[in-house]
Amino acid sequence: PSSPAQRVRSVTDDDRAHVFHSWSAQAQISPPEITWAEGSRFETADGTRYLDFSSQLVNVNIGYQHPKLVEAIQRQAGRLLTVSPAFANDMRSEAARLIAEVAPGDLDSVFFTNGGAEATENAMRMARLHTGRQKVLTTYRSYHGATAGAIAATGEPRRWPSEPSVPGIVHFWGPYLYRSAFHASTEDEERDRALQHLRDTIMVEGPQTIAAIMLESVVGTNGVLVPPPGYLAGVREICDEHGIVFIADEVMAGFGRCGEWFAIDRWEVTPDLICFAKGVNSGYVPLGGVVISRAIADTFADRPYPGGLTYSGHPLACASAVASIGIFREEGILEHVRGVEETVLRPGLEAIAARHPSVGEVRGVGFMYAVELVRSRVSREPLVPFNASGEAAAPMAEFAAECKRLGLWPFVHFNRTHVVPPCTTTADEMREGLEKLDAALEVTDRHTA
Ligand code: PLP
Repeated sequence: PSSPAQRVRSVTDDDRAHVFHSWSAQAQISPPEITWAEGSRFETADGTRYLDFSSQLVNVNIGYQHPKLVEAIQRQAGRLLTVSPAFANDMRSEAARLIAEVAPGDLDSVFFTNGGAEATENAMRMARLHTGRQKVLTTYRSYHGATAGAIAATGEPRRWPSEPSVPGIVHFWGPYLYRSAFHASTEDEERDRALQHLRDTIMVEGPQTIAAIMLESVVGTNGVLVPPPGYLAGVREICDEHGIVFIADEVMAGFGRCGEWFAIDRWEVTPDLICFAKGVNSGYVPLGGVVISRAIADTFADRPYPGGLTYSGHPLACASAVASIGIFREEGILEHVRGVEETVLRPGLEAIAARHPSVGEVRGVGFMYAVELVRSRVSREPLVPFNASGEAAAPMAEFAAECKRLGLWPFVHFNRTHVVPPCTTTADEMREGLEKLDAALEVTDRHTA
């Protein structure tokens, strides 16, 4: 194609003719083409440059095209590109050791997958085989992936079209003080009542039938629900009491997103299994996995683990994880996230909340914040109904369009916009993004009562 306009047409035409997109009514979408990306910004084919407050699907933790990560991938591509899981490989060994080093407690072995859903699937399988029990407890307002078991574990509308789904999953309510399922009015009440509710759920389900409790340490897409202090420690205690495996789904919250290697580190709790993906290598190459405690790994010492993937521990993916963890350390990315959160992000969002009547609450940790939008701060009625689409979701669509018009790429879900930029976003870029967000919220203010 000779002109940029023709090139745009051809990419778009081929996309519309041949690409079948995730979660979409195929005839109703027109995906913009990304033609350039660097650091915290990307550009689409029409020449518009955006500051990215979404990190794509909250995975580009290291920013786009990090030169050292690109170089490590190029280097590995020239060395060795594929070996089956049955062989040992230097990059796989090193990635596993580095991940075990940053994981808490005695979580020392890593089973590699290609992404998050395969991680949660395998974690549930490990827990079932380890305990000899079948049920897995997960929360409402959670997302664990789109394969059969992972979508069954998911506690939100993306599960509905797959129902009836695989049996053996029981959902319960986790803490969410702003819309408390327990009529709590303080964090302590929310913690105590949520733990009591979990205890009651286990009592009536039968503790001896429950293999695992799987939780997002900080719930991601379904609202950035930060557990109250003591909640995760309480879940740990309940699991210990009943011999239940505690699975922390850190696919979104891990690797810097919450200013820690793993979000659960903030509360000094050690789960039995940790699921990771996304931020481990910022999605430069597909990679996920499960970090496994000694006791669970020992279950499979003399008994084969019945699970595997052709690309488990792919050298290119593992080389990118090795490089990424190195960059996190060299560049002090965890410290950077905590510093910018403290000095710019949290105070900036609090100021925004004070100015805009449509902001019901801001909450979060690290570079993972939600701005929850409401019709009225008094009634807390969501700006758009739960799971709204089409006309009912128009105020949020208008808001997203306004962000984009201002050069900010938002992460919008239901009645919230999440602030989830790359973990390398500078203080100045964060200020710039918050200014644009502030301006865009004029749109949602118009919908308040
Ligand atoms: N678990 C959590 C908490 C997630 O946020 C996601 C993806 O958004 C997944 C699991 C699934 O990961 P993947 O899309 O890589 O399969």
